[in-house]
Amino acid sequence: MIKLNRRIAELKPSATMAAEARATEMKEKGIDVISLAAGEPDFDTPERIKEAARRALKEGRTKYTTVSGITDLKKAIAAKLKRDNQLDYEPGEIMASAGCKQAEANVIAALFDEGDEVIIPTPAWVSLAAMVGLSGAKPVLVPCPESAGFLLRPDDLKRAITPKTRGVILNSPSNPTGAVYSASHLGEIAKIALDADLWMLSDDVYEHISYDGLPPHIFRVEPRLRNKGIVFNSLSKTYAMTGWRIGFAAGPKEAITAAARLQGQNSGNPNSITQFAAIEALTGPQDDVRKMAEEFRARRSLVVDRVRALKGFKLPNVPQGAFYAFPNISELIGKSVGGRTIESGDTMAAIVLDEAKVAMVGGNDFGAPHHVRISYAASRENLSAAFDRLADFLKKLN
Ligand code: GLU
Repeated sequence: MIKLNRRIAELKPSATMAAEARATEMKEKGIDVISLAAGEPDFDTPERIKEAARRALKEGRTKYTTVSGITDLKKAIAAKLKRDNQLDYEPGEIMASAGCKQAEANVIAALFDEGDEVIIPTPAWVSLAAMVGLSGAKPVLVPCPESAGFLLRPDDLKRAITPKTRGVILNSPSNPTGAVYSASHLGEIAKIALDADLWMLSDDVYEHISYDGLPPHIFRVEPRLRNKGIVFNSLSKTYAMTGWRIGFAAGPKEAITAAARLQGQNSGNPNSITQFAAIEALTGPQDDVRKMAEEFRARRSLVVDRVRALKGFKLPNVPQGAFYAFPNISELIGKSVGGRTIESGDTMAAIVLDEAKVAMVGGNDFGAPHHVRISYAASRENLSAAFDRLADFLKKLN
């Protein structure tokens, strides 16, 4: 066995990526799998964005760019932050990356260190704790109970803070729960973070897939946090651009410059063609964004009804944003089929994939082992067929 770096040896595969990969592998073998695993819109990237990429190719925009992205893209990101979030950032305070994931990983690695603690309200997206762990800091998972709408309670945050705490990562709307914070709730959290002098990392990836209008921004609610605040966002979900790999971070210049230094050593600029497409995405007409969000709203109703009709699936909270349902399957723990027993959300997802040919992600790596995550970034037709399969599968359990 080769000796690996300790942190890499301990690193688990991304549960979302692994679930999607298993579904793809089965499909490649000719098995008819419906994937509700990865959070990936089924829509095609809007034509205006593809056209901008074609133009960039024709113009030969195929060279290295500044590591943190071309100035015109940073200006487009600054304009977006002003338009959507009423936040002011200079191009020098912005870094574009190959997906929001890379921006988050580089900023987290730049800010945190061995001996630091970073608070992650849980359930949380699977990669956040991994990124914090890779930086050498300790992820401190603070449970947000389902009965509290999966939202971080201010008292729980206060209790989790120690002299070692350096930051909090918030994600509203949340992947995987769909929970959205109100302005007053954000205000309470912001005050605690300010008092303890913590970094506030705000992951806004699902802001445009939010069913009651754009969610309030924590740095708008408490502008003093901006000096120790990082905004993260992506074009993947908003513009159906997952494969293009483009996202960004905005924050105090020193922090962003440090993260870009790391990016310059470990990867370099995000894809040059993608950067030109991203300028069009951010600055062009936004009707496609609204259209896609409306379709997600219709799918949400379908999914909430169908999940609630499944025996043993509980979904007390209607997701307010993102495109995931995160039902509780506690009642099914201990049930078996074909000699296999459901022990957790993960085993449930594995058994459902084999038996019902529906891919979803187990809740374990989201910090919620009695849950499964169902993505409804899939067509209504596929969603209906998947729920028919799930209903049939549940009849076989004993
Ligand atoms: N963020 C999406 C998800 O949770 C895409 C996969 C990933 O990056 O984890 O499914």
